Amino acid sequence: MTRLTRSDLDALPAYVPGRNVADLARELGIAEAIKLASNEVPYGPLPGVVEAVTEAARSMHRYPDMGALALRDALAERLDVAADRIVTGCGSVALAEILVKATCLPGDEVIYSWRSFEAYPIIAAGAGATSVRVPNTATHEHDLTRMAASITDQTRLIFVCNPNNPTGAGIRKDALDRFLDAVPSDVLVVLDEAYRELVTDPEVPDGVQTYADRPNIVVLRTMSKAWGLAGLRMGYLVAAPEVAAAIRKVLTPFSSSTVAQAAALAALDQEDEVRRRCALVTAERERVTEALRKLSVEVPSSQANFVWLPLGDRAAAFASSCENRGVIVRAFQPDGVRVTIGTPEENDAFLAAAEAAL
Ligand code: PMP
Repeated sequence: MTRLTRSDLDALPAYVPGRNVADLARELGIAEAIKLASNEVPYGPLPGVVEAVTEAARSMHRYPDMGALALRDALAERLDVAADRIVTGCGSVALAEILVKATCLPGDEVIYSWRSFEAYPIIAAGAGATSVRVPNTATHEHDLTRMAASITDQTRLIFVCNPNNPTGAGIRKDALDRFLDAVPSDVLVVLDEAYRELVTDPEVPDGVQTYADRPNIVVLRTMSKAWGLAGLRMGYLVAAPEVAAAIRKVLTPFSSSTVAQAAALAALDQEDEVRRRCALVTAERERVTEALRKLSVEVPSSQANFVWLPLGDRAAAFASSCENRGVIVRAFQPDGVRVTIGTPEENDAFLAAAEAAL
């Protein structure tokens, strides 16, 4: 057949989303599975958000505000940065894609730690950029020394995932300072802080507060996790004004829907509730970590809303055993399994499934 698409895409792995409750119902006949595979916070939409969405839906026949100005202003106030430094997008994954598009021409290099967020290789390849993967340390952290040493004249962008998905490792300020000082000023560093709201280690810095004055740093955040909007898609970034302006030029027009903008604005009014929910999740994270360690599994300390079980090539078998007991977790064969922290009852069900699987 005549080739209509790029041949290099043949080798590209597809993004594998967490399996759904409906998948288990169909395949295993398990009616009420528990999903701990996609890192959502389990407590439902924040108060007032469904109402804001319902109201906004009345104007769905009109295009959204392309600049998301009201949302940008609200974020700017909350983060204490100028509004022209903020860009919103259809989830932070879309913004990650735009960042690569805005920095890389085919053949340019994107550095990231591996294993890390599984969209990075797909995004780099999609832009025709070359991925430079730097293996995590033996303690499942970014190897920042090797990442700095991997920078070449072709390097245009570096993803630093803090805390790292899927290992949960947080990078502390002294290590991050040292790394950022070593990066040339013409290479953009993207601090992917999708799980920032779940960080409890005071040494793990808030990228916006700590590095806002560095023009080659972009901080990427999402409203999918702590803010409960995974299904509506809203992410944002904070960048130097010139970088933000360039990014806006390649942003897909109207990619933040009216409904998502209204939902995000309503969610931002619920900061106390977000804090309360995050505290529940992080307390459970510590409980689950301790319980798993009692089962003699290595569990690195996590700064996010998931824990990492470095089970190596036993990952797929562990995940499938949990699924047979109605708990969906995420295997990253051949490295390990990531388990999202759910409600206390969901976590108990997982711990029982884990004990049986191990
Ligand atoms: N970055 C990281 C590290 C993530 O784990 C995720 C979600 N899995 C994202 C970005 C993307 O989140 P979203 O597109 O929902 O904002």
